[in-house]
Amino acid sequence: MRIGVLTSGGDAPGMNAAVRAVVRTCAFYKIDCLAILKGYQGLIEDNTKQMNPRSVNNIINKGGTVLKSARCLEFRTKEGRQKAFENIKKNKIQALVVIGGDGSFTGAMIFQSEFNIPIIGIPGTIDNDIYGTSHTIGYDTALNTVIDAIDKIRDTAISHNRLFFVEVMGRDAGHLALNTGIGAGAEEILIPEENMGLNRLLESLERSEKSGKSSSIVVIAEGGKTGKNVFEIAEYVEKNMPHYEVRVSVLGHIQRGGSPSCFDRVLASRMGVYAVESLLKGKSNVMVGIKEDDMILTSLDKAIKGKSEINKNLIRVSDILSI
Ligand code: ADP
Repeated sequence: MRIGVLTSGGDAPGMNAAVRAVVRTCAFYKIDCLAILKGYQGLIEDNTKQMNPRSVNNIINKGGTVLKSARCLEFRTKEGRQKAFENIKKNKIQALVVIGGDGSFTGAMIFQSEFNIPIIGIPGTIDNDIYGTSHTIGYDTALNTVIDAIDKIRDTAISHNRLFFVEVMGRDAGHLALNTGIGAGAEEILIPEENMGLNRLLESLERSEKSGKSSSIVVIAEGGKTGKNVFEIAEYVEKNMPHYEVRVSVLGHIQRGGSPSCFDRVLASRMGVYAVESLLKGKSNVMVGIKEDDMILTSLDKAIKGKSEINKNLIRVSDILSI
């Protein structure tokens, strides 16, 4: 048997650990493993590399993806996917492991339905926005990167009595903002799932000030519901609280990079093993996930359409502790 493995969409720390696990599990079960470089682009261009257990030496600790990733427009077309399938046949690939986010899984599902090739997904994204797993690969590392950055920003905020607005990634999901906001002791957290409103933000900051706080951190997810971006929010607050020195920090791409945390390495290793073993048991069109420390499978369809809910209790915790 021959399995193909690729990483696709936004990169996330821990993808390499997942690739290593897939390659080595294949070797363990005496299955041939072919890496496809640059995601779906590599399938279309027939850009592949034969893997063996030694090809994945010393990558478990590396961020990004050694297989490279790409946003591939051509794969969105029937002609593009037809080319990809021709190369699957040419390379005698009998099943695919796709490491990526919901966009990659949407592509995988369409490809599977058109050409009936078995596919298993492994969720790799720092946003943790995928249904069917409590954690995606890369999320824990990103949490730690963000916490580290906010701690450093707080040093400056305290020294100058400043109010800092820190924007973290998360267009549709506030997991990263909510958890790092609590972890870094933010005064307020703005997430896409809850419309806090700018007036409540002002009231809250005024309350904080009256209670003796001279500096504050507000964590804002990219996709906040106020209808304003982080700079506009900061401007609005500065206008209404002119005595405060307001600063904005957009953390941006540093949140994606870096050496994966131990949690992400272990998660990726477990998911890689489980993905190959599931393929061997005949599973297809499913995504590997983790639930209460057990590996589970969810149909790709559900993983894409389902909503990964934030824990609403965390909002309450943040409200209580920012008194
Ligand atoms: P992520 O997997 O991180 O969500 P993207 O949304 O960029 O990242 O998706 C990765 C790739 O998956 C895209 O570049 C494209 O090749 C493929 N893809 C996404 N959506 C579709 C779709 N509707 N049809 C076919 N391929 C798709």
